[in-house]
Parts: sequence; C-alpha cells; structure tokens
Amino acid sequence: MSAPSSSKEKKHISKKCPECYEYMPLEAKVCPACKMRVGKIGPHGMAVRLTEWRAYTICMALWLFLAFYIKWAFF
Ligand SMILES: [Zn+2]
Repeated sequence: MSAPSSSKEKKHISKKCPECYEYMPLEAKVCPACKMRVGKIGPHGMAVRLTEWRAYTICMALWLFLAFYIKWAFF
C-alpha cells in the first residue's frame, strides 16, 4: 500500500452547514439539523449555501411593485 504523495487536497468526509455549523455527510442536500438546503462542499469544508431563487424573485417583484405603486401614487 503506497499513499499517493502528489495529492495536496485534503479529503473531507463531512461538510459543515453554513447556517448552524452542524456536520453532515458530503452527499447530503439538506442539513439534518436546520433543514436548510445546502450545495456541494466549499473551499473551507463548508457546504455552499444555495440561493433560493424563487424567494429572491418574489421579493424583487414585490419591491418593484412597491416602487411603481409609490411612483404612480405620489407623482
Ligand atoms: Zn444546518
């Protein structure tokens, strides 16, 4: 058995939740502790935080609607 000397990557067996810092398996898609959706492991052994595009879009649409409403109502 010879260990590969050229590999500089650290082998992670678990990743950390960016929300609650709980460890979970590498292939986990949802944090078992806080149920947050997480992505692949990042550079610091931390799971990548997934952007909730749907919630983000709805929020932006609401803000746009509010801006147009204010413009329409006051100008
Ligand atoms: Zn978590």
